[in-house]
Amino acid sequence: MKLFLDFTPCKECKEMMLELSSEEMLFADDATRAEVSSRFLRHLTYNHNEVVKAVMDEVKTQKRSPEFDLYK
Ligand SMILES: [Zn+2]
Repeated sequence: MKLFLDFTPCKECKEMMLELSSEEMLFADDATRAEVSSRFLRHLTYNHNEVVKAVMDEVKTQKRSPEFDLYK
């Protein structure tokens, strides 16, 4: 499932996104990458309700779509 999120990242978001796409991260092990990603997701959950809502709406829309029925 692909999600396109439209929201305004705050300073912390930008820092974490920068961290996630840094060269350092490219060479980091899975555990480190998972740690940073989950920190970012947690931040989104607590600080950006609009993102969580957008994800939920998207999930609902995809469940309703005809393509989804093919995978029942
Ligand atoms: Zn943020």
